[in-house]
Amino acid sequence: MKMHTITLGITNCYLIEARDGYIMVDTGQQRRGKKFLRAIQQLGIQPEDIKLIIITHAHFDHVGSLAAIQGYCQCPVMMHPQEAKLTEGAIVVIPPGTNTLGRMVSWMGEHSKILWRFAAAAVEYPVEHEYDLQSFGVSGKVISTPGHTPGSLSVLLEDGRAIVGDLAMNQFFTQNYPIFAELPEKVYESWQLLIDNGAQQIYPAHGPAFSVDRLKAVLASRK
Ligand SMILES: [Zn+2]
Ligand SMILES: [Zn+2]
Repeated sequence: MKMHTITLGITNCYLIEARDGYIMVDTGQQRRGKKFLRAIQQLGIQPEDIKLIIITHAHFDHVGSLAAIQGYCQCPVMMHPQEAKLTEGAIVVIPPGTNTLGRMVSWMGEHSKILWRFAAAAVEYPVEHEYDLQSFGVSGKVISTPGHTPGSLSVLLEDGRAIVGDLAMNQFFTQNYPIFAELPEKVYESWQLLIDNGAQQIYPAHGPAFSVDRLKAVLASRK
């Protein structure tokens, strides 16, 4: 299964080749609709080839261009119901930091919320626990992986590739643990869940992909 990465603002968005088109995971920061169109054009993909948009969680850098991209693709959106509430209400949430840098950025974010506003979008597929993507022609599933936010979802492909949103980061001076988390302890539980479900390679929204061994090492050091 082929997978493409397109970067919209600070966020990696992923396009997974499906039986008949593509599934897109996350939609990047606000005002990136045109950049999205240019990026898929370079890949030879038409907007209508995208059959489903999965959102890992409702932070502005993941749903920022959702309304615009959904407008181009005319496809349904999948999200955890808790995150769907935020997206449908266009509610900006700035998560708490887990380290000094995170706390600083979070403080700045709280004081500049107006800058992070995004357009509301409707969610057709609420997923609370798990969803088999076979119906969209992809060997893989969506699973609930709370931690960074309560309603964070990950996409786990059968071959072990795991698109995890912000459950793990590989940027912002961090190599594994996210610099923001609403449920810090749950992050580790969700890593374990991904490992138990066969994750091999982690595809974060921020930074390049890396081996799951890194997460295993962190978990082992906590025992
Ligand atoms: Zn986030
Ligand atoms: Zn993010």
